Amino acid sequence: MTGASSVSVRGTVVIDTEACKGCDLCIDACKPGVLSMTTARTNTRGHRFPELLVGCTACRACADVCPDFCFQVYRFDEAKTWSPEGGLR
Ligand code: SF4
Ligand code: SF4
Repeated sequence: MTGASSVSVRGTVVIDTEACKGCDLCIDACKPGVLSMTTARTNTRGHRFPELLVGCTACRACADVCPDFCFQVYRFDEAKTWSPEGGLR
């Protein structure tokens, strides 16, 4: 990979994966497409759950759409940049 694949990151989410029922609503709601459902792993109730990829904008769409209040959204004071070489800075 090269530095050309750096990504702006404006926030992050904490996901209550145990509360998730695997409905997928958050996946469609996340416009940057930085939520991805697990494929093989499930929570203790047998449901797949979302995981956060790089590039959250802290838009809160996931928190607004989730029927089970699984998301806590945190906006960074200043945007950070993620790159394969340097990680999140
Ligand atoms: S806050 Fe917005 S960008 Fe971040 S994971 Fe939720 S829907 Fe996606
Ligand atoms: S919207 Fe909520 S309950 Fe549905 S898959 Fe996403 S985290 Fe799970």
